[in-house]
Amino acid sequence: MNYIRRVEPYVPGEQPNFPDMIKLNTNENPYPPSPRVTQALERCTLESLRLYPDPTSHKLNKAIADRYGLEENQVFTGVGSDDVIAMCFLTFFNSRKPLLFPDITYAFYPVWAEMLRIPYELVPLNEDFEIVKEDYFRENGGIIFPNPNAPTGALLPLEAIEEILQKNPDSIVMVDEAYIDFGGASAVPLIEKYDNLLVVQTFSKSRALAGMRIGYAMGNAELIKALHDVKYSFNSYTMNRQVIEAGAAAVEDEEYFQSIVQKIIATRERAKKEFAALGFKFQDSMSNFLFVTHPECEAKELFEALKEKHIFVRYLKGARTNNYLRITIGTDEEMDALFAFLREYLKK
Ligand SMILES: *Cc1c(COP(=O)(O)O)cnc(C)c1O
Repeated sequence: MNYIRRVEPYVPGEQPNFPDMIKLNTNENPYPPSPRVTQALERCTLESLRLYPDPTSHKLNKAIADRYGLEENQVFTGVGSDDVIAMCFLTFFNSRKPLLFPDITYAFYPVWAEMLRIPYELVPLNEDFEIVKEDYFRENGGIIFPNPNAPTGALLPLEAIEEILQKNPDSIVMVDEAYIDFGGASAVPLIEKYDNLLVVQTFSKSRALAGMRIGYAMGNAELIKALHDVKYSFNSYTMNRQVIEAGAAAVEDEEYFQSIVQKIIATRERAKKEFAALGFKFQDSMSNFLFVTHPECEAKELFEALKEKHIFVRYLKGARTNNYLRITIGTDEEMDALFAFLREYLKK
């Protein structure tokens, strides 16, 4: 058939469902969301669902703006950051010059670029899997990278991001901060200084609400207005009533948020020691996962062996990554079960 748009889709991590499973494959939070979310959902009566939701998702956007010290017109929300980033690609990357992003990064970027016919170039990470800021000091139609990077977990210091912003005054620089809450310094304070900066975050990881689908972009009001105009040209009501209530309640519960993030950080630091003791090599991750490789064992085989025991981790194909596994930080108990398995497995 002619005239059909054929694309190679992004393949999300699997969502198995076994009662005994240890799920460390899609970077979800091992803890439940804030208990305030339950109350928020109760406020959303059956009767209210008769009506369309607020197309501006005011309550949620305001809660996010307050949390980050921004104005509401500096916040855009969408159906997960995947939706937000796709809208950003559509809105901001309209140049014939290439969009730049790292060769090892979130595998969705090339998929959006291909689908939206945006020219792009992969910028290789160095041998230590680090972003080299100087590689972004050249002509381009836009820049995007996660910080910390995924799936490596490596953090780029804020000074490097600021330099990238300074060298690229004519293109939009998007920093995908899906994992920033696990120990990195956010670029949000730079929004005031750089009108070409857009910071994207999500409720899926640090706020334990992957199932709710909430993501957001923060930037100067002019960029956010452009994003809203594109969104309203597509679908005015992306954020439903329950999402707006639950999302606002989750952001307002700062204490709970800090408590689960700190637990994950503590478990991650312990996990680094355990993995190192078992002979694994990995980046010094500042996210809620570790990207590990072992000199004496094949990643794909280990992945299969773990899966057999219902321990799910992520294996990502790719020339430079096919002997690595990306392992989400779970609860201490889950990690202990993983390490018990690994100790036995590596003995053989
Ligand atoms: C998880 C993730 C996202 C998408 O998260 P949503 O669930 O769509 O909010 C975006 N970018 C990176 C780098 C991620 O790891």
